[in-house]
Amino acid sequence: MYFSNILGQEIPLKIIQNAVKAEKYAHAYLFVGPEGVGKKSTAFAFARLLNCKHRVAIDNKGEKHASGADLALQDINTYDACGECISCKKIEKQIHPDVSFIYPEKKDIRINQMRTLKYQAQFKPMEGSCKVYIIDKARMMNKESANSVLKLLEEPPDRVLIILIAQNKYGILPTIISRCQVIKFNLLSDNLIVRSLREKYKIEEEKALFFSQLSNGSIGKAFSLSQGKTEESKKKADFLIAKIIQGDFISLFSESEKLSFSKDREELEKILSIMMAAYKQKMYKNPNGKYQSILEIILQTKENIKRNINVGIALDEMFLSINRIIEDKEIARII
Ligand SMILES: [Zn+2]
Repeated sequence: MYFSNILGQEIPLKIIQNAVKAEKYAHAYLFVGPEGVGKKSTAFAFARLLNCKHRVAIDNKGEKHASGADLALQDINTYDACGECISCKKIEKQIHPDVSFIYPEKKDIRINQMRTLKYQAQFKPMEGSCKVYIIDKARMMNKESANSVLKLLEEPPDRVLIILIAQNKYGILPTIISRCQVIKFNLLSDNLIVRSLREKYKIEEEKALFFSQLSNGSIGKAFSLSQGKTEESKKKADFLIAKIIQGDFISLFSESEKLSFSKDREELEKILSIMMAAYKQKMYKNPNGKYQSILEIILQTKENIKRNINVGIALDEMFLSINRIIEDKEIARII
């Protein structure tokens, strides 16, 4: 993964690339932002750039130079990894001895994973110039693991870089956060996701637009949805939308009962996201405020379901509230 492949995260990339250019980077970074927007790819691109044997210089016009030797420092905009050297190749295959990826084993990140990390961190890099530990889903470090990372951050060994990745800062020890440079990643625009799905994955425009709207700004999610089966979920969402318009509550309540018995929460989430995408399209065509309220209701329903509120009741209330809005009756919001 190169920096140039990462979409729509100009500010995080600039911070990192400037740090590399000035050769002044922090011992630890905390990448925060929604799932699927490029945090992990950026972490690997960072690891690759630090360990690349033949770094490529990129000038102010965006052109690549095999080595920066022909450029004055002020003409170098940034650097990127070459992608060809043994180090780049090993990192791509995740077999580089100095770059480790740590993620939760089962429910959490365990102390034995951290002990291995701490043990390895005291030695010099074996092949590269910097040891990089990428800790994914850092919120899932259990108490012992978090304390172990904290100790490492209090006295960081030379040539060791730790990158913690999380959706947000909650649940991470404030003492850890204060020792990290926090870099915030943002959601991507629908346009950017459509472009990426079309260019990188050759998905046709109409489908790309549909998946981008389902993905809520996450390229990772858009791609995984585009590879999975969404036909059935789309049929179900279209059916529900039609029944809401008709005010056919017998069918709707029967559907909510079925959905509440099914344990497939991912499927339910997908159906609700497809409904949101459909109402979003209606909103673009007719931005009169009505659809905004419907979107808020579905979003609230999704959150209620995540908080384990009874699925059947949550869906029944959602159907009733959307129908009221469509029929211009008093707006009742689910709170
Ligand atoms: Zn390289």
